[in-house]
Amino acid sequence: MEKQKFRCNVCKGLFKHDSVIELDHIIPQVGGGTDKADSRQVLHRHCHDTKTRTDGSLDQRQHTKKKGLIAKDIKAIHALSVT
Ligand SMILES: [Zn+2]
Repeated sequence: MEKQKFRCNVCKGLFKHDSVIELDHIIPQVGGGTDKADSRQVLHRHCHDTKTRTDGSLDQRQHTKKKGLIAKDIKAIHALSVT
């Protein structure tokens, strides 16, 4: 998370205070990725949607149940990302 410096890895834009962001698996688990913290990144929801459509993880169940997080809840996201 800190490595990203609060930037989206897709569009490279900074997260705004009210941006809707989501945790993403850099390598989809269906493609052999793991669920460890260093395999995750944080993206804008709309950027995540774009990536999900192109990385083959569209059918992954967790993407459908995942809900967006607001950037101001960044501590909660960090807690998720280090768990
Ligand atoms: Zn983005």
